[in-house]
Amino acid sequence: MSQQHEIPNAVTPPAGPLFGLDIDDLTALMLRLGQKRYRAKQIHEALYRQRVESVEQIAVFPVALRQGMTDAGFRIGQPAIAQTARSVDGTERYLMRMADGETVETVWMPDGDGGEEPDVADEPQFETPGSSYRRATICVSSQVGCAVNCQFCLTAKLGIRRNLTAGEIVGQVAAVLNRHAVAIGKNRINLVFMGMGEPFLNYAEFIKAVRLLVTGLGIPESRMTVSTSGIEPAIRAFALEPIRPRLALSLNASNDTIREGIMPITRKWNIRKLLDAVGTIPLRTREWITFEYVLLGGINDLPEHAREVLDLLAGIRSKVNLIVWNPGPGIAYTQPSAEAVARFQKLLVHGGIPTYIRRPRGRDIYAACGQLKRTIDPAPAPPLVALSEASRSAAPAL
Ligand code: SF4
Repeated sequence: MSQQHEIPNAVTPPAGPLFGLDIDDLTALMLRLGQKRYRAKQIHEALYRQRVESVEQIAVFPVALRQGMTDAGFRIGQPAIAQTARSVDGTERYLMRMADGETVETVWMPDGDGGEEPDVADEPQFETPGSSYRRATICVSSQVGCAVNCQFCLTAKLGIRRNLTAGEIVGQVAAVLNRHAVAIGKNRINLVFMGMGEPFLNYAEFIKAVRLLVTGLGIPESRMTVSTSGIEPAIRAFALEPIRPRLALSLNASNDTIREGIMPITRKWNIRKLLDAVGTIPLRTREWITFEYVLLGGINDLPEHAREVLDLLAGIRSKVNLIVWNPGPGIAYTQPSAEAVARFQKLLVHGGIPTYIRRPRGRDIYAACGQLKRTIDPAPAPPLVALSEASRSAAPAL
């Protein structure tokens, strides 16, 4: 090892995961390692544009520096795909393992998810040679478990274990992109922060992750949507962010009484408070607020509920995504009838709100909305079908 690239013992910082460090963090790190500033830009490029998976792969670094960092215990530290399940509809659900052994789930949905695509019709569709998809959406987790306790959600049954770091949030995306050999800029990728957890209860790490995804990986913020159950102070902070995704508010009820029953967090921030906070977001051109509405049979799917929703959303540039509730073990709701879903949509559309029925994705592998639970039950999902050869060799099925 040449003296020039050795890491001086006296200034060696505690080594750890590099993924998740932004350019300022990396500059400070390189200076502490006795390196020149330009090394920070190089490693930033390697981590996020090239998506290297080991320090050894940072080809622009001299061998001695790579070796020195490896010896000092530095690692990329992306979450690893521990298990994979593939749905008949092409959706893939991954169990992502963090360095401390905690796991979350991340979902890959080829051809988008049909609901968070605001501009599908007027954008070119990419066809990647050797690839079977034109565009895809990745659903990302923000916490291990969730504290919000929505009554219709399987993830809620986990409780909250811990927040994910920015590196662990971005790392889920990088791991999935690498698995599918996605070239940002050629393939059209949408991100939805709708996996496990409430992103706005992990606000600082979530926003740091968004900045890294935009400035590092190169995914435009306009292709990202964050869904919140309604954390009012965080919505107000979000409105002031210079770089931010689109917002989806998980409304799910037309009045506070129903919402308190299915989303107890409503007692803290009621619908009026949430809509007032949403109103502070300066909407960009072609941007609107998405309101998600999980339809529960006999609870929130009646015509009077649709009319109340119309009153609530009056004056807000919005669209509504109707989500037919996905059943899960231990949750005592029923699915709405097809007639109730169609009637609800029709009433909203006639009231002037663009309203879409989200295609359920990956229902057979519990990857659909509200179904991400991790494997707290040994075999929670129905039998798997059509695990691809790639999936088989990469990891055992969930
Ligand atoms: S729906 Fe979202 S916010 Fe509510 S418990 Fe599930 S993961 Fe948490």
